[in-house]
Amino acid sequence: MSAELVKVADIFGENVFNDTAMQERLPKKVYKNLKKTIEEGNELDLETADVIAHEMKEWAIEKGATHYTHWFQPLTGVTAEKHDSFISAPLPSGKVLMSFSGKELIKGEPDASSFPSGGLRATFEARGYTAWDCTSPAFIRQDAAGATLCIPTAFCSYKGEALDQKTPLLRSMEAICIQSMRLLRLFGNTTSRKVTPSVGPEQEYFLVDANKFLQRKDLIYAGRTLFGAMPPKGQEMDDHYFGTIRQRVAAFMKDLNEELWKVGVSAKTQHNEVAPAQHELAPIYAPANIAVDHNQLIMQTMKRIACRHGMKCLLHEKPFAGVNGSGKHNNWSLVTDDGINMLEPGKTPHENMQFLLVLTCILKAVNKHADLLRESAADPGNDHRLGANEAPPAIISVFLGEQLGDVMEQLISTGEATHSLKGGKLETGVKTLPDLAKDATDRNRTSPFAFTGNKFEFRMVGSRDSIAAPNVVLNTIVAEAFAEACDVLEETDDFDKAVHDLIKEYAIENQRIVFNGDGYSEAWVAEAERRGLPNIKSMVEAIPAMTTDKAVELFEKFCVFTKVELESRAEIQYEAYAKAINIEARTMIDMASKQIIPAIMKYTKTLADTVLSVKEAGADVSVQSGLLSEVSGLLVETKTALEALIKVTDEAAEKEEGAVQANFYHDEVFPAMEALRAPVDRLEMIVDKDVWPMPSYGDLIFEV
Ligand code: ADP
Ligand code: MG
Repeated sequence: MSAELVKVADIFGENVFNDTAMQERLPKKVYKNLKKTIEEGNELDLETADVIAHEMKEWAIEKGATHYTHWFQPLTGVTAEKHDSFISAPLPSGKVLMSFSGKELIKGEPDASSFPSGGLRATFEARGYTAWDCTSPAFIRQDAAGATLCIPTAFCSYKGEALDQKTPLLRSMEAICIQSMRLLRLFGNTTSRKVTPSVGPEQEYFLVDANKFLQRKDLIYAGRTLFGAMPPKGQEMDDHYFGTIRQRVAAFMKDLNEELWKVGVSAKTQHNEVAPAQHELAPIYAPANIAVDHNQLIMQTMKRIACRHGMKCLLHEKPFAGVNGSGKHNNWSLVTDDGINMLEPGKTPHENMQFLLVLTCILKAVNKHADLLRESAADPGNDHRLGANEAPPAIISVFLGEQLGDVMEQLISTGEATHSLKGGKLETGVKTLPDLAKDATDRNRTSPFAFTGNKFEFRMVGSRDSIAAPNVVLNTIVAEAFAEACDVLEETDDFDKAVHDLIKEYAIENQRIVFNGDGYSEAWVAEAERRGLPNIKSMVEAIPAMTTDKAVELFEKFCVFTKVELESRAEIQYEAYAKAINIEARTMIDMASKQIIPAIMKYTKTLADTVLSVKEAGADVSVQSGLLSEVSGLLVETKTALEALIKVTDEAAEKEEGAVQANFYHDEVFPAMEALRAPVDRLEMIVDKDVWPMPSYGDLIFEV
């Protein structure tokens, strides 16, 4: 390995058309116009766009770019792009010019009729448009295709309906900005001009050896293992978590960081996670739309760089049964353009009326719309994690910690909060170590929605999913709570009293959502039920939350989704679930029929031959024949379960698409898959390793 010196400050953002590049390249007036657009959200005129496009192209060509693409995020969970080269029609001389117009920069028409639209557009009216999101800077991606100028865009239909993750996200950011500004003004803030949700997502992932990956059809088609017995050792020793990073993985991380820094992603923290072969990367938080784009870039870059190191990156929520799966922690706060974090409690939160109002509004929002928040983290992979003692339960609750929990209790019991608990000193008991200042609040890893000092951490999100959906929900539900508070406060003559009364009212009315205990415990499940909190265990049960009257009213009020858009999204979710389970079931059928059963049949033949020859030789064959009958018995079980799975999977395909089909996959196909897995995993434990037709869990997670 070369010890080539990388100066992070030099490479950071070198492939981004960022503020520095714009300032250097654009005429002053154009630069000012663009900044105004970015900051105030005005429309860009075509003349300005032409100049920007020209300069962007020149910059990109200097960096070796031959193509540009409108980079967008359809409802597939991944990003999409169609590349166009910069060349124009050949001149009479036979040469070509390189061109890129303002029109091409701000609007694209990729057709793209095959993306999920949930019935929003039929293929015959397939026009879909991409529009430049100039608040997220363009960047150059370098890969096997050469250098490509990527322009982050939103994707919508001919009629302007959102077909992607970005459009509703931008709409929700506007909503929360407007309502937060109302609230700030009421508290006498006259200087801030804008409020942006800041988001820092921590991304978990697995790395496995590429050669082994390629020997497993389940990993190839479904992204997770569908069969697999536990190795003798799992994660019980906790020796992987925060452990020394293996050299092969360390080399991957180094490359990954450098690639990310070049495109302006502030990759900051990396470490080994709980499960063997599991890792995490966290960037520094950024405005929500940039964080969403960057998270997509992080996931794509992880996959690409892993291949370079002979590995595969698994982003599935549950690649291996029996060890932890992967998620994403979505850290969220509200920050003004002049740097005020509205979720900062200060040293004496009980005196900070603005903070207490913000906090109780968030409690109200989460309590009212727990079902929506839960839905925003629903995906087929997360069904394996939520509530399985490795990720938060499927019940939404809010962790406030000791200090804020205490302030809330004072408010609820006496209507007045008079003091805040202090953090004090953390005494280590070792003379040579300094005593550390202790946080006023401990961590609670089992809570789905935890206050962590000056932000909320939503811990339910699946590792593969875009973080757009949870942030759309967060922004909009909090905008609603702020709006309702402002409606009251703007009308009052006695502001201080009205604020005080609202805080008290919200704290009392929404106390059921606050839970500071162990979210993994059985007792909490029972307690939550007593409190009337929803416990939505699966994706198919979560989807209806999107189209309730409550949800439609919320999203229409803040112009984030229309009813039609919500219905289309619910439809897409049902389809996504049905398709995912169908692929998994068919992959299991394929593996069992073509690999596992044939291998076991060969093995039983060898065993039978052994039994006969040992018997002929006059020795004791009880061990051999015992094993033979055990294996044969499990083989029969396997074959029976396989046939049952084939039957229900065929039936599922015939069902009416949408809720009916998705529920059938959940209720009938999924249990049939588990029933097939059980005997196969037991067989894996007892047959000769040489006979088993694919690498085991041990091979995959301990030998990276
Ligand atoms: P952990 O929660 O594992 O201790 P960190 O404290 O390092 O992790 O933070 C995790 C993520 O939270 C990082 O992406 C970080 O940038 C982000 N973060 C920190 N402060 C804020 C904030 N005020 N708003 C949003 N995200 C934040
Ligand atoms: Mg965290």
